[in-house]
Amino acid sequence: MWVHLAVLCANEGRCVYCNEARSEVMDHVVPFAHGGPDSLENLVPACDSCNESKGDKTPPEWVMTTHLRHPWNSTDATPSDPLPDLRRLYEHAHRACEETLGRIEATIEETSDKKRRKWILVRSLQFGIPRSRSHIAFCRATFEEELKFAKAVGFPDPRSTGTSALELLSRQSPDETSGTDSTDGL
Ligand SMILES: [Zn+2]
Repeated sequence: MWVHLAVLCANEGRCVYCNEARSEVMDHVVPFAHGGPDSLENLVPACDSCNESKGDKTPPEWVMTTHLRHPWNSTDATPSDPLPDLRRLYEHAHRACEETLGRIEATIEETSDKKRRKWILVRSLQFGIPRSRSHIAFCRATFEEELKFAKAVGFPDPRSTGTSALELLSRQSPDETSGTDSTDGL
C-alpha cells in the first residue's frame, strides 16, 4: 500500500510519460520482462494509456517509436504534402526522449528521499488497511494534500507530532511559512 502511494503521488500525481494525465498505475522503467526489478528505484507513476502503449519497451524505445511516426502514416496526409524534414523529426524525438528521461530521474530522486519514504510509510499505517477502491481513492486524495504540506515543512515524523503535516502548517503564521510569497501561490 505505501509503495503504491509513494509512487502514484510522485511527479505531483501525474503520469511521468505524458506528464498530463493523472497517474493510475505503477510502471517499471526497465520492463519487468527485461529483468527490471520490482523496487522503488524502478517504479514510476503512469496513466493507463501510456502504460499500455509502452508495454515491454524501455522509455527511450517507447518515446522514439512514438515520436518518429511521421505524417506519411497519418490518414489525412495527401500525396502533395511536402516530405517531412527527417532531421527535425529526429531532433524533436530526441528532445522528447531527453525530457522524459529527466522527468523519470527527478521522480525516482523524489521517491528515493528517505524522509519522504518514512513519512509515507508511517502515515499509511495510520490509514489502516484499505478495504475498497473508494477507501484507496480517499487515502490517495488525503495523502496528496498532506504530502504537499509535509514536503514544505521538511517531512515531520507523523508519530512524534501526532498531527498531520497539514495541521502543523496551519499553526504557523503566514509570514513563517515562506520567505517570499506567503499569501500568493498557496
Ligand atoms: Zn500518460
